[in-house]
Amino acid sequence: MSIAQNLLKIKSTLPENVTLVAVSKTKPITDLMEAYDAGQRIFGENKIQEMVEKWEAMPKDIEWHMIGHVQTNKVKFMAPFVSLIHGVDSLKLLEEINKQAKKNNRIIDCLLQIYIAEEESKFGLDEEELDEILASETFQEMKNIRIVGLMGMATFTENQNQIKKEFTHLKSIFDNHKNLKSENCQLNTVSMGMSGDYPLAIACGSTMVRIGSSIFGGRI
Ligand SMILES: *Cc1c(COP(=O)(O)O)cnc(C)c1O
Repeated sequence: MSIAQNLLKIKSTLPENVTLVAVSKTKPITDLMEAYDAGQRIFGENKIQEMVEKWEAMPKDIEWHMIGHVQTNKVKFMAPFVSLIHGVDSLKLLEEINKQAKKNNRIIDCLLQIYIAEEESKFGLDEEELDEILASETFQEMKNIRIVGLMGMATFTENQNQIKKEFTHLKSIFDNHKNLKSENCQLNTVSMGMSGDYPLAIACGSTMVRIGSSIFGGRI
């Protein structure tokens, strides 16, 4: 099947309230344009330099999502255009995003990444650290960022029960915080689910899935 066919098939299975991020990391612009021509406007990348190059070369009605781990010193390169940063996991990073957003006269939407997997390598906050950030004065004074939800990645395993447990955990943290409302914080997005586990993620309450290989094919 072609990229366009893969995309349209997946889209036809998604509930209306679930947003599809087409994860195009490592793929050439011609592949992204095939998805674009089939109607896709939200693309996810995990390297800032690669995202900048694609943003420069491609139509300007695309929303670019940063889904990878972000180094503080590279925020400035994406601050002029990024529409959602998924992997924010420290107050220090938020401060830098806020600073760079201000320089660009923008408000940048962010998701806080929650650690839900049983793997050492995955980034993220636990619920206590999340609460600390949200309660801090430093955060409450930030005017150029907006926390719009949470993001998480399940353990890389075949064990569906474990994945389900992890997604349910993220959804419960989301539910515990969704009534918080302030100028720069209003949670409405749960970003969870990739090619291998997105139907389960949706069943567990995901509102945003990040799908790469099922659309564009495998990566080397
Ligand atoms: C690569 C990546 C995805 C997409 O993975 P696929 O298995 O190709 O769908 C989703 N989320 C993050 C954070 C990624 O790095």
